[in-house]
Amino acid sequence: MNADVLIVGGGPAGSSLAVALARRGADVLLADRARFPRPKPCAEYLSPEASRVLDAMGALGRVERSGAAALSGVRVRAPNGLVIAGDFVAQHGFRAYADRGLSVRREVLDEILFDCARAAGARVVEGLRITDLVRDSSGRVIGAKQGASELRARFTIGADGLRSVVARRLGLSRATRWPRRLALVTHYTGVREVGEQGEMHVERDGYVGIADVGHGATTVALVVPAARARDISPDRAAFLERWIRSRPHLAARFSGAERVSPVVATGPFGSHSRRAWAPGAALVGDAADFFDPFTGEGIYAALRGGELLSDALVEALGARDGGEEALRAYDRARRKEFGGKWIVERVIGAVVGWPPLINRAAKRLSARKDLADLLIGVTGNFVPASEVVRWSYVWKVFVG
Ligand SMILES: Cc1cc2nc3c(=O)[nH]c(=O)nc-3n(C[C@H](O)[C@H](O)[C@H](O)COP(=O)(O)OP(=O)(O)OC[C@H]3O[C@@H](n4cnc5c(N)ncnc54)[C@H](O)[C@@H]3O)c2cc1C
Repeated sequence: MNADVLIVGGGPAGSSLAVALARRGADVLLADRARFPRPKPCAEYLSPEASRVLDAMGALGRVERSGAAALSGVRVRAPNGLVIAGDFVAQHGFRAYADRGLSVRREVLDEILFDCARAAGARVVEGLRITDLVRDSSGRVIGAKQGASELRARFTIGADGLRSVVARRLGLSRATRWPRRLALVTHYTGVREVGEQGEMHVERDGYVGIADVGHGATTVALVVPAARARDISPDRAAFLERWIRSRPHLAARFSGAERVSPVVATGPFGSHSRRAWAPGAALVGDAADFFDPFTGEGIYAALRGGELLSDALVEALGARDGGEEALRAYDRARRKEFGGKWIVERVIGAVVGWPPLINRAAKRLSARKDLADLLIGVTGNFVPASEVVRWSYVWKVFVG
């Protein structure tokens, strides 16, 4: 046996889980195919509630000192030019752990989180790519393979992101059929008028997220329908720059800006798992569920998912039934924690792909800041999803 728990993937989900388990005395092996710091295509915004988990991990101070930008809210520009602006500090009576969200490059964030796992007592290995699972004669997962060599563990966890090998080998993940989107992500310096609010600009043929990411850099994440893959592949950077230049309100702000990192493509994304466990194994973070990145909740969900799974695994390690009841409880805890959010994310993902709907919502929400603040609070992970997943809210946004 190489470890009690083998965690495949040292991003936010794997590192959060490793910290929580190692602190509770479990023998944890955290393996990542990459060497840190490593880039990760992302719009790099963390919701205000993510600061609570970062603090619990011992990472918040380091992230803040790294030069992360603080965001006070989010602005969404609809195709009709109307702007929905919501703040994290508002009159709705809900308060997040922190008054601001953070925006920080993933090279920086993920290395800090991985370090926290090491400091908490997890054994960490970089440059180790898992290729398959190992099972016993009953089909229970008893470890993972790196090529011909095997690592044995009582529980093997897939925290290996969007295209998780563990989830595929378990046969648990399914691609979302619609919307299917691709993203191009990069950084610029010299973009004009980048303020304290994260920005989303929704157009008929996609959307772009723009945010200060500290040290004078701006993160730019363009998301377009997967059908544009052919137009993108000859030259990603040219596609992105053409897309920006063809929107006058963006072109003016990018004139004179300089691109300072390569344009990275990712997608198509959108996948979810029927359940997030099998005998001897479980999934967490993007490996378990990935929705459209519009609401920027993936990092929080990964961090929080790590906490939830750690509770289940501590129970499972001491159980006589192989831990199955504890892992079932993990699935229930995920549904309780994220169920409402999944609905909100799916609805928003669909609405941004349908210009008449987002234009209509913008008409109401640009005039009703209280409704906008509530929605931004839900995506900021500190207002319960039930505040907007109700007919009275939907009616006010689309009809009344
Ligand atoms: C375009 C885009 C924009 C986004 N913007 C935001 C945003 O602004 N805010 C937000 O909160 N979320 C955003 N997200 C989502 C966010 O990036 C993810 O939800 C988050 O990174 C999930 O963390 P994770 O730990 O589950 O996976 P990851 O961060 O993907 O980490 C997985 C780790 O597993 C490792 N790995 C993969 N395969 C193997 C293997 N076979 N063996 C060993 N290691 C392996 C990888 O190297 C990686 O380090 C965005 C996503 C996209 C695509």
